[in-house]
Amino acid sequence: MCSNKNYDLIIYGGNPMAIQTAALQKHTLYLNGLNCAHCASVIEEKLQKDQHLSQVIFNFTTKKLLFHSSYNPSDALEHIQQVVDSIEDGVTVSQNLADNHTPNCTDNACSTPSDHSPTHTTTSNPSKGIMNLFQKHALEISGTLILIGLVIYGQTTLIMLPLFLLSYLLIGGQVVLRAFKNILKGRVFDEYFLMTLATIGAFVLGEYVEAAAVMFFYKLGESFQDYAVDKSRSNIKSLLDIKANYANLVQNNAVEQVTPESLKLDDIILIKPGEKVPVDSIVVDGQSSMNKSALTGESIPVPVSVGEALLSGSINIEGTLHAKVTKTYENSTVAKILELVENAAGKKARTEQFITKFAKYYTPFVVVSALLLAFLPPLLGAGDIKDWVSRALIFLVISCPCALVLSVPLGFFGGIGSASRHGILVKGGNYLEALNNIDTFVFDKTGTLTEGKFSVQYITDTNTLSLAAQLEIHSNHPIAKSIVDYYGQEVSTASATQVKEIPGEGLTGLYNHQQLIVGNQRLMERYQIPYAQANQDKEQIGSIVHVALDSNYIGYILINDTIKESSIDTIKILHEDPKSHIALLTGDNQVIAKDISRKLGIEDCHSELLPQDKLSVIESMKETHRKVLFMGDGINDAPVLMRADVGVAMGGLGSDAAIEAADIILMTDEPGKLIKAKEIAKKTRHIVIQNIVFALGIKLLFLSLGALGEASMYEAIFADVGVALLAVLNSMRTLRL
Ligand code: ADP
Ligand code: MG
Repeated sequence: MCSNKNYDLIIYGGNPMAIQTAALQKHTLYLNGLNCAHCASVIEEKLQKDQHLSQVIFNFTTKKLLFHSSYNPSDALEHIQQVVDSIEDGVTVSQNLADNHTPNCTDNACSTPSDHSPTHTTTSNPSKGIMNLFQKHALEISGTLILIGLVIYGQTTLIMLPLFLLSYLLIGGQVVLRAFKNILKGRVFDEYFLMTLATIGAFVLGEYVEAAAVMFFYKLGESFQDYAVDKSRSNIKSLLDIKANYANLVQNNAVEQVTPESLKLDDIILIKPGEKVPVDSIVVDGQSSMNKSALTGESIPVPVSVGEALLSGSINIEGTLHAKVTKTYENSTVAKILELVENAAGKKARTEQFITKFAKYYTPFVVVSALLLAFLPPLLGAGDIKDWVSRALIFLVISCPCALVLSVPLGFFGGIGSASRHGILVKGGNYLEALNNIDTFVFDKTGTLTEGKFSVQYITDTNTLSLAAQLEIHSNHPIAKSIVDYYGQEVSTASATQVKEIPGEGLTGLYNHQQLIVGNQRLMERYQIPYAQANQDKEQIGSIVHVALDSNYIGYILINDTIKESSIDTIKILHEDPKSHIALLTGDNQVIAKDISRKLGIEDCHSELLPQDKLSVIESMKETHRKVLFMGDGINDAPVLMRADVGVAMGGLGSDAAIEAADIILMTDEPGKLIKAKEIAKKTRHIVIQNIVFALGIKLLFLSLGALGEASMYEAIFADVGVALLAVLNSMRTLRL
């Protein structure tokens, strides 16, 4: 049964891919200078089919390529460079992101990853920038000046052809060269080829001005487009700019700047006001307040003092702090968040997959139509061949699907980036998209809708409490923590042995050579121990922990949990949509489950469930073709999180297994963030659909106008680069959600 298999995978931390690739090494490389989204998807596809590589993910936005392979780092780099070269020229594969990587990237458009100061801002000198621009584009500019001269002169006779050709080659020589190089590589239908063909065609037809001017507008549009793509990439990246670039390591009374990666456990670091916390650590000296907004979206400063934990990525606002490293960089919050968001590119939304596929067929289709348009009507005797060829050339200009392939992934990644700014981590565009179709919202109770911070209401006697604490000290369950806290005395982890935790039930172990059992009624039933019915009146409704020693019932502890502030509103807002169905699943007893669901207004309530029972409830909901979202926090929720269409886990309180299994993680543990996530998902979809409709609509319009002989090549150029530019700018709106 697949349900059990899923569960085993999580419990043992296994992953089928991990087994296969155990001997493989993980590599990270950057494809500097890769600005063409379509080439990026071709490269990604080719690498994914490469036998030497596995788990290949390329993130066009961050230019980061992740993969596993048995190559050593330098061989891997060489191999990737070869593959990339076979597809696209001018891309440098390297271990680092280049500072000033793209040909069209001006000083202030680029982020500088090597930036060493947290308050660093890139300085830009406008006159230097313009000089650079002139130097870089000297050929194009002189070609343009010649063209302007020719247009003013107003002669387009054959004698002027050499001058037009000169201006054309100065402006677009690189495009023509690339077109030929790519043909040699077997890539025929790329935009360079199409532009070259269209403009050479115009020359043949004697339309010299048009040929050179179209090349000029194409180059201009491309530059704007590159600029916009670069700008949006750096905007998205700055949303994810949560990693500290350096750490201040304190050693022998001296402070040294080191990389966060080089810190070891128990190192002492200094965090000055204004600096980011480089790794997860604990304050050993000083006090301050922290801005965690980059991680959680909450901008209210949180005070910290000695003994309190610091999350990497948060910013120290005022005091100087000394902290002890509790997690190395790769295990720290910041590395986990970055890895997660960057890997999100590997899980493409369905729309994105569709567009990539569509692009494959669109170009050849338009080119074939162009051929038919050029030659079929004249063959059938319908008019002048020159006229039809010139219409066909317009087709060629419109045949690049750039606007779509650029803007759709940018839109999704922008949505993911913007969600992360609100403390919502989405593991892929597909989940952001799926969120729009959810009609069934299922919640776990403890730690998800309730705080998971229990307060002890009643104990039968102190012996019960003391015995319970002996086992609970071994558990991470929220109930366990509160019992140990309430007990308040030192508990040795050595006093109980052979402790076993049974998810959704409790704990067993040996204490003074006697079997100690601490857990709910189900656990008591399992050991056939008669237990007392807790006295639950209206004021005292809560979770019950029974204690038995050597098969004798000892007593129980009644503990109470509070409902999270945003739970009530969240359920209310979800109820506003009459189609949505809401359910509560819990391992806890029926009395408290009913009480909580009544308070929250949830009518469908399932209690006393084991992990596999939670799974079967979800399965049966899915059988009725419902699109199910499940939100949970515990180890016992992991299988359900995997099975649901969208699994949402609590990032702060949640167990590692739950976070691993989930598709979306709420860093602040507030169910209310689900509403924000839905809103971002909805707007992202809107923007993506707008782009698709707009880009395809304009292209279809100009294709029809072109076929009818009503569109000029200038208009065709607008339909190509102009639309791409507008679509990219539009997709940037996802960043402000
Ligand atoms: P939920 O499904 O509401 O999130 P859990 O599945 O985490 O709740 O736990 C279900 C029930 O299992 C708890 O209400 C409690 O009765 C029992 N339980 C689980 N772990 C423990 C523990 N460490 N100590 C005592 N009882 C526990
Ligand atoms: Mg729970």
